[in-house]
Amino acid sequence: MNENQKIPGEKIAQIEEYLPGDNTFEDDESIRATTIGEINLDSSERLASVNSQTQITVPKIGDIIIGVVEANLPSMIAIMIKYVNGKKVVADLECICVTRHIRKKNIALAKDVVKVEIISHINGTIHASIDSQELGVLFTKCRKCFGTVVKMRDAVKCKDCGWIDDRKLSLDFGKSDFITQN
Ligand SMILES: [Zn+2]
Repeated sequence: MNENQKIPGEKIAQIEEYLPGDNTFEDDESIRATTIGEINLDSSERLASVNSQTQITVPKIGDIIIGVVEANLPSMIAIMIKYVNGKKVVADLECICVTRHIRKKNIALAKDVVKVEIISHINGTIHASIDSQELGVLFTKCRKCFGTVVKMRDAVKCKDCGWIDDRKLSLDFGKSDFITQN
């Protein structure tokens, strides 16, 4: 995020210097942003506004995320958000999913496509859950040979080398045809 990009609530100007413009509100002596976006200080009109064209949609609690696993750590996975409620996201936004309570060796591997639900925002970090049945891995590959895998009960089996591995699979595993990883 560059320094011209403001987050909701952040002060963008003083009320004696500027008037509140688009996507802003007055708070005592200050003008503050109501959305994430690029600040625009128009000195001829004396208008302070936040450009909504560069607005980033921050997922809300309850939103369903489809994303790509960036990192697979012992107690959590980090996910790059690609879709929010089915809509493609252009900005780079990450969420964290705590997995230490799930009794599986491999919840999801790096580069897996997963479906998670947003549960909270804490200190600027977006937290998601992968617990319920429809949530989990949508797409994965063999850990040994990167071959295509098929579902076997709650595990996956490689069609090429026969390796069986566990994952926290989504009920929708194997159903999705939207996947083009990029
Ligand atoms: Zn394999």
